[in-house]
Amino acid sequence: MASVKTIKDVNLAGQRVFVRVDFNVPFDSEGKISDDTRIMGALPTIKHLSEQGAKVILASHLGRPKGEKNLKYTLAPVAVALAERLGKDVTFVEDCVGEVAEKAVEAMSDGDVVLLENARFHKGEEKNDPEFAQSLSKLADAYVNDAFGTAHRAHATTAGIAKFISGPKVSGFLIEKELNFLGDKTAKPERPFTVILGGAKVSDKITVIEALLEKCDTMLIGGAMAYTFALALGRTVGDSLSEPDKIETAKACLAKAEAKGVKFLLPVDNLITNKLDFGAGTVGETKIAEGNIEDGWEGVDIGPKTIELYKAEVANSKTVLWNGPMGVFEIADCAKGTFAVAESVAETDCISIIGGGDSVKAVKNSGYGDKVSFISTGGGASLEFLEGKTLPGVAVLEQA
Ligand code: AMP
Repeated sequence: MASVKTIKDVNLAGQRVFVRVDFNVPFDSEGKISDDTRIMGALPTIKHLSEQGAKVILASHLGRPKGEKNLKYTLAPVAVALAERLGKDVTFVEDCVGEVAEKAVEAMSDGDVVLLENARFHKGEEKNDPEFAQSLSKLADAYVNDAFGTAHRAHATTAGIAKFISGPKVSGFLIEKELNFLGDKTAKPERPFTVILGGAKVSDKITVIEALLEKCDTMLIGGAMAYTFALALGRTVGDSLSEPDKIETAKACLAKAEAKGVKFLLPVDNLITNKLDFGAGTVGETKIAEGNIEDGWEGVDIGPKTIELYKAEVANSKTVLWNGPMGVFEIADCAKGTFAVAESVAETDCISIIGGGDSVKAVKNSGYGDKVSFISTGGGASLEFLEGKTLPGVAVLEQA
């Protein structure tokens, strides 16, 4: 996907700018915002537009209200939190379309910021209904998408609206950065380029594996995914999570890696247990297995020799892309491999890209979050982008 124009390429002073942000923030049991990362992340784009003299009209979704107005999912508290962090008034508008919204926008002066109510209070949002998209478009002259996490969805605020906007359609700083790291830096990587993939299933990641085998020099596999590859090599995996119906797929991957000259590494040892209780967060007896795993035992993490092997590969890399944990990292006894990988990625002097999903949680929990070059904010969107798919929310933006 070629790169798109950004807010730096256009002057939006005096224009009404519809900005799709991702304010889908978590709340604690007392109704307070428990993590403001997404609000903080949107500030540079909002500040840039407001300081330029644009009328900034923010839209987002929050939770899954399923097309009904449900105040459990109102964005009103986000407007308050945003105003505090922006150091500027933010007008909250109780609907994202219709008279209320149109009047609120008419009343705006240059540089003002409004936040529209949850777009998912309307069925037309997730259905990408053209009529709803057109009502949204009445509010604006220009369109900015800065919500990467929903860019893989063709919804009215992420894609449909763009068709009805005649002015500039560009990305904000967050999407620009995502495209730069997940796109440009992996398309023309500094080499050696090492990809680390883990997680539960080969079937979830197969398209990513295939796409990245075209680009990387080394691929390191961990997580339960590794056991399907072990089956493909004729090993036994005991009770480990695996997908016997994906053995042929795994074999095809191994063949592709060989044909491409990609060094494709699987765990040489595993931490195995005779009992895994995910709910209680506990494991029974554990031991290290090299090679085959016997019945009654399952692999829950990469073993110490694999950790050393993978660390050495990472240390030798100039670019590292990581997606998916090396084991059941939610359970402390099975998190060693994932945290060791997080540490080595953080400590290696390389471009380090954490490609969304559970690996983001793992890196943040490990305390190395601020030592990596880039942490993607998209789970599904990151994977689809890495698979080489066109994201609808990016496709509607003007090409650079
Ligand atoms: P994914 O969403 O595909 O990245 O998978 C993440 C999930 O994979 C996490 O919840 C991990 O607990 C799980 N996982 C990783 N390794 C294993 C394993 N060896 N056995 C079972 N689950 C695993």
